Amino acid sequence: MLHKLYHRCCDGLGHREHLVRTWKLKGEFQIYNLHRGFFLFKFNNNEDCDTILEGSNYFFVGRPLILRRWEPGMAIEKLNLSTVPIWMRFPELNLSFWSAHCLSKIASKIGHPLYMDVQTTEASWLSYALVCIEVEAGIDLPNQIDIRTYLGVTHQKVEYEWRPSSCKECKSFSHASSSCLKKQAKENVKKE
Ligand SMILES: [Zn+2]
Repeated sequence: MLHKLYHRCCDGLGHREHLVRTWKLKGEFQIYNLHRGFFLFKFNNNEDCDTILEGSNYFFVGRPLILRRWEPGMAIEKLNLSTVPIWMRFPELNLSFWSAHCLSKIASKIGHPLYMDVQTTEASWLSYALVCIEVEAGIDLPNQIDIRTYLGVTHQKVEYEWRPSSCKECKSFSHASSSCLKKQAKENVKKE
């Protein structure tokens, strides 16, 4: 199974322990460090691999683990990561917006809402609401959302646990616009 880890520095041992705790596997697994944040996982129990791939999104230090089943001939460079899940926070959210229905509507202004954390669902921690959404590559993540109600417009602040960089040209999270070869090639053609 292939895995894209959005973490600059990966301590192999800490990473492994975190995954063992999260995945609760039946068998053993090996991690092979590839490059550019990619890792290959080899399981000695196929059921473990299937269970993980069918599971919900996994996060490591607030960043998503993007998982793909490995196939012969798979080219890492060509994997098109067009969407990623991220956590967004709504600090000091008005209590009247504190429901799954409202939060889902607000979050959908930026991406596709996936789920909320336990404290938000139970409204047990009212400093901020935390919602996991799936965002598309190339979009700008705003710091504020305008919520319109019959009473007027509320400017709601938005924060992100992590802002992934993506390429607007390729609509992909595989690389940033600043290091896009396609964009550079286009610019070179214009100069000629
Ligand atoms: Zn690109």
